[in-house]
Amino acid sequence: MKKIFTDMYVGGRWWPTENTFFDMNPSDDTLWAEVPDVGINEVQSAIDSANHAFEKWSELSFNQRAHFMIKIAEIFEKRKMDIVSALQGEAGGWFGKGMFEASYVPEIFYAAAAMNYAAIGEIIPSEFGKLSMAIRRPMGVVSVISPWNFPTLLTARGIAFALSAGNTVVLKPSEETPYCGGLLFAEIFEEAGVPGGVLNVITCSRDNVSTVGEEMVEHPLVKGISFTGSTAVGREIAARAGAHLKKCCVELGGKNALIVCDDADMDRATGAANFGSFMHQGQICMSVEKILVQESVLPEFLDRFKERASKLKIGDTTKDKSHMIGPLINDRQVARVKSQIDDALEKGAEIVLGGKVDGRFVEPTIVTGVTSDMTLYRDETFGPVVSVIPFGTDEEAVAIANDTEYGLSSGVITKDEYRGLGIAQKLETGMCHINCSSVNDEPHAPFGGLKSSGVGRHGGRWATDTFTETRWITLERGGRGFPPGF
Ligand code: NAD
Repeated sequence: MKKIFTDMYVGGRWWPTENTFFDMNPSDDTLWAEVPDVGINEVQSAIDSANHAFEKWSELSFNQRAHFMIKIAEIFEKRKMDIVSALQGEAGGWFGKGMFEASYVPEIFYAAAAMNYAAIGEIIPSEFGKLSMAIRRPMGVVSVISPWNFPTLLTARGIAFALSAGNTVVLKPSEETPYCGGLLFAEIFEEAGVPGGVLNVITCSRDNVSTVGEEMVEHPLVKGISFTGSTAVGREIAARAGAHLKKCCVELGGKNALIVCDDADMDRATGAANFGSFMHQGQICMSVEKILVQESVLPEFLDRFKERASKLKIGDTTKDKSHMIGPLINDRQVARVKSQIDDALEKGAEIVLGGKVDGRFVEPTIVTGVTSDMTLYRDETFGPVVSVIPFGTDEEAVAIANDTEYGLSSGVITKDEYRGLGIAQKLETGMCHINCSSVNDEPHAPFGGLKSSGVGRHGGRWATDTFTETRWITLERGGRGFPPGF
């Protein structure tokens, strides 16, 4: 059933807005929801509300804020099945992806609640015998901008730790998923009785996004920014935040490699390749985009990988739970994927599986003969297309894996754990998973990239670092004199 929202959630109330925009189901292009299309005035009132709510929220005791996080988690659990169906309808994901995402989100809020019971600072030695403390305090209003691919999970990750630490938030979800990444949170926070203004949700179309985004960074009351999305937009946001000397965490794109060594368990390797490359149509920042396979095991790997991937069923995910490969989110994404395939074929690459593009549906595609002059090798694909590239030595594998501007995640498959750790040490990625695909996330672990994949970390105590400021406080106890004459 179509969802209609004409009001925006600011200051704990729903306010009528003048304009709306359409939110389409990517599988069949039917209208899925209609949501507010706000401009600069509404952003300013959301920021004012967040600022107004900050003092009381930050002064609640640590466990009161933790209890709110737990309540939110429980409502997410209760609403799990309608969230799964919203994720499928609004974002085109497979049923299993929806189940994973809807189950993971409460864990993020539980982890954020748990952080509030951890130490908030340290006692450090003092040359003068002072009581010398490094303590954390919340920043104030944090702007959170989230993407469409795991909209509920990535919004939760952006807001939960920021809020539990005592900040208040203005949230702007992607225009592709304004419900699952935004308005759903407004509904749940309202039901949990979270004080008004602690979370404010604004939605806008692509036409208004640069004005809205600019204000969310530049407004003087905004003290911190959490952005998850493409490297191109993230770079602009970080530059703007830098100009205002604001703390900014940007989680961006990736070109992640999976390295399959000659001693790999082939079942594990092909499973990691299949899941890592094709889960959610490859629309995961951590998706495997290059598989580097040691020459001696390449024929066996390719045969078994093709066999696995050819079994993935494609189709409208809302119609059949067995449709594991749904549509790409929009026509822009399809055009980008298609142009990378065409460029690779023109320059001599070969498709060994898939390659067909039917509207928004792209077959799981395996490409060989990929060279460094191809866009498929260099640029993020964000679709179900993966290159398989041979290597001779471990040093060669590391060099090919690192031959990218990105540095988000990676995977290494080997039965030799020392070898795996040795390779992991040399990979220029924020995350590396031995005997697994590059796609891994746990709410309490440090998530984030190196190089053009971002700056800052989400997850556990690293998220608390991201969303707080450290202060040095000392208490003099008679050990610090002043120079004679003062
Ligand atoms: P995007 O950069 O187009 O959009 C991300 C968000 O930024 C959306 O909310 C969008 O509305 C907003 N936005 C767009 N232009 C803006 C502007 N000028 N000012 C302010 N906000 C603006 O990215 P996307 O297409 O939504 O997501 C896909 C990208 O996100 C991929 O590159 C993927 O790798 C990356 N991603 C990274 C992570 C991570 O944790 N590293 C996670 C998921 C996705």
